[in-house]
Amino acid sequence: MFASVQAPEISGMDVIMVRVEADASEGLPSMYMVGDLNHQVKEAQDRIRSALKNYGISLPPRRLTINLAPASIRKAGTRFDLPIAAAVLAAIGRIPPECLKDTMLAGELGLDGSIARVSGVLPSVLKAEQVGIKKCIVPRENEEEGRRALEFCREKSDLRVIGIGSLGEFLAWCRGTLQEYKPPASNKHRSEKEEPDIDFSEVKGQYAAKRAAVLAAAGFHNLLLCGPPGVGKSMIARRIPTILPALTPDEWLEIMKVYSIAGILGDEDQQIRQRPFRAPHHTASPQSLSGGGKYPSPGEISLAHRGVLFLDEFPEFSRRALEVLRQPLEDRKITISRVHGTYEFPACLMLIGAMNPCPCGYYPDMNRCRCRPGDIARYQSRLSAPILDRIDLFAEVESVSYEELQGKSENTGTSQEMRRLVERAAAMQKERYRDEKIRFNSELGPSQTDRYCTMDREGSSLLREIFEKLDLSARAYYRVLRVARTAADLEGSEIIRAEHISEAVSYRRIQ
Ligand SMILES: [Zn+2]
Repeated sequence: MFASVQAPEISGMDVIMVRVEADASEGLPSMYMVGDLNHQVKEAQDRIRSALKNYGISLPPRRLTINLAPASIRKAGTRFDLPIAAAVLAAIGRIPPECLKDTMLAGELGLDGSIARVSGVLPSVLKAEQVGIKKCIVPRENEEEGRRALEFCREKSDLRVIGIGSLGEFLAWCRGTLQEYKPPASNKHRSEKEEPDIDFSEVKGQYAAKRAAVLAAAGFHNLLLCGPPGVGKSMIARRIPTILPALTPDEWLEIMKVYSIAGILGDEDQQIRQRPFRAPHHTASPQSLSGGGKYPSPGEISLAHRGVLFLDEFPEFSRRALEVLRQPLEDRKITISRVHGTYEFPACLMLIGAMNPCPCGYYPDMNRCRCRPGDIARYQSRLSAPILDRIDLFAEVESVSYEELQGKSENTGTSQEMRRLVERAAAMQKERYRDEKIRFNSELGPSQTDRYCTMDREGSSLLREIFEKLDLSARAYYRVLRVARTAADLEGSEIIRAEHISEAVSYRRIQ
């Protein structure tokens, strides 16, 4: 007998529907699997045999052929275990073939018949809806993720997501006797409005650095924080997600897709409430940043999509790791080439780097700095020009005075106050760029900068004066204008004035 069912294959960020076919015919008892499969898919037959045995089902002495179509696509991973088992069960007459009609299955089988979570369930359910599938059977651990996808389906969609924990439950579902599973009433559904437990009010003083954070958040500019050790550079960076504009539903979906495909959506610490903040260590390999493996999945750069990628000890990252950053910073996506194809992952992120001014950390305080001049230059030159060119804002973080630590100084801003400014600038950019492909000032190309960065007379003559005096390059000129555009947006001004130009210049790289 012949049976077939649909299953998702993930290729980069895309989902391709694969038809899993099984045929049982007369012949020598055997199981053949075809359809361009990698070793993980081929190993499925051993897991299936043993899982079935645990439910008292042994394969009949028939010739079983399993085909995964289309054959032109390489299939990888363990998510085909459950669909293959289901197709086999239907082909040998243990379940009615109607059960598999308009159904998508995904799940990894354990030898005991348990079903383990797989990656990419959220985009798989979305794809299933597109192609008219009516039922998605997914591992119980992925059930909530699958249901979340339903929120993004058409209103009239009659797609159902069913979570199962074992092959036994699958058999029960086919017989129509599966008990509805009630998740334990844990603190799973924490309030959506839960405030983050960190706040910019904890950063005392640091007026200039906090202002740079507001500028960065408002225009999605890349930012480099420079200062001696222990002054709060990473404290500032970690609080930037608390002032970024609220996620739009589309952005939320984009982020969830990335996390789903990386297989970490739904982990306790990966509840997506606000924009991501990723902080890989400086020993991170280039592959862990870009997304490694034979069949790559998203790396740190893509996990920071629509949020912040924080690189502490920025110059300590290996040259190759920094090199990996170049393309995504320019293209806002990352492309990985492998034997089986080219994969693309989104990477629209804000890079925040933190560095000491010199190897010991105390330059230019010559009373404390013990570095030789050559060491300082070498240390700073580890950041190559192409990377530095993508950083719009350079801010110095200074030592905090005793009064500031005691909280006796003026309040330099809470996250809520800072975010209010950011939201205003975000609204102005949304309106201004409604017909453009860009969303933030940091994305302005040269011709767009000319079009959208209108200066008044004083602003224009100040920029000319600075340009000539400091001998700015064309790149630096556009960088200053982009940041000035954000400074004006924070004030709700369409016209860039002299004070916006001078503020932008103050966050310029000093070199
Ligand atoms: Zn030093």
